[in-house]
Amino acid sequence: MRVAVIGAGQLGRMLALSGYPLGVQCAFYDRSADTPGGQVGPITTGEFDDLPRLAAFAQGADVVTFDWENVPLASLAALARRVPVYPQPAALAVAQDRLLEKTLFRDLGVPTAPFAPVDLRQDLEAAVARIGTPGILKTRRFGYDGKGQAHIRSRAGLDAAWAALGGEPLIYEGFVRFSREASLLAARGRRGELACYPLSLNVHRGGILAETRAPLRHAALQALAERHLRAVARHFGYVGVLAIEFFVVGGRLIANEMAPRVHNSGHWTIEGAVTSQFENHLRAILGLPLGATAARGHAAMVNFIGRLPDVRRALAVPGLHLHDYGKREARPGRKLGHATIVLPTASARDRALARLRRLA
Ligand code: AMP
Repeated sequence: MRVAVIGAGQLGRMLALSGYPLGVQCAFYDRSADTPGGQVGPITTGEFDDLPRLAAFAQGADVVTFDWENVPLASLAALARRVPVYPQPAALAVAQDRLLEKTLFRDLGVPTAPFAPVDLRQDLEAAVARIGTPGILKTRRFGYDGKGQAHIRSRAGLDAAWAALGGEPLIYEGFVRFSREASLLAARGRRGELACYPLSLNVHRGGILAETRAPLRHAALQALAERHLRAVARHFGYVGVLAIEFFVVGGRLIANEMAPRVHNSGHWTIEGAVTSQFENHLRAILGLPLGATAARGHAAMVNFIGRLPDVRRALAVPGLHLHDYGKREARPGRKLGHATIVLPTASARDRALARLRRLA
């Protein structure tokens, strides 16, 4: 079985690694061969809008998928005329635009922060008058890891936020005073079967995921998150792994965003769940039976951002599994790897996590 993956970052790399035991070969397409995916599977280089080159790359593949959210939709749509593309380009189209995403959540009865589209300066005035401050002004497209966002603490901050982001299509969101952030990941198969993972608890720093712990054992929140995710997945007739990030406010969940792909907050599933999100994504898109999603013990994942820890010291932490993405260039804010700790009890996990934090 051959899977053509558009984008060859760390997500693609981990997808390929999970495919080998199953006899699934992932081949990559990216602008450069020197990528995390290109180190573990065959890679074709080209621009993401070079349709003939993309078509030649996907020739003979059983299915096309992507590990990057900014793949041009036109490219995926063109490929979908020849080979099945999962997740569906329609889901990617919504995930690429924060306004479409929040509007869909609202239409499906999934709670969101109050939001308003902002194209002109006067839209921002109107949005702030209606929603109030504090809030966050975000670019509708191409924002990730906290990029393209400006916090507006009071009306005095409008000018600075507009100077930073004005001119692009934007969205203004009311600030959610959450107690915790959680995400739900699930794999949906070609016949509509759904396998949900236990909720993950996430900590972001500077808009970038820093740390995840799982499972969050909270039956009511789990059931609520599954209901919300099921509604979104059904809407698209979705196939593959889908992630939704939520703010937890009391006993409620407020959806922030969805990712139509494997997700950083699910990396713990590689060692911490019966079947990893990567393997389940491959199983789903290839029409194979889905694997069990239960947690095996208590897991914590820490991202290595900007620098990797000393390998010897990291491996001395109990229950730790190290993932180096093979990126040659260390830049501030760049995810270079992660580690997952899996231990039988939450307290042992938290003690090991405290050691790991000192290394990250
Ligand atoms: P995003 O790029 O939308 O995933 O935002 C990155 C992080 O910024 C989130 O995980 C939150 O920690 C924070 N954030 C984003 N939107 C809001 C909001 N409306 N209210 C409070 N915090 C937010």
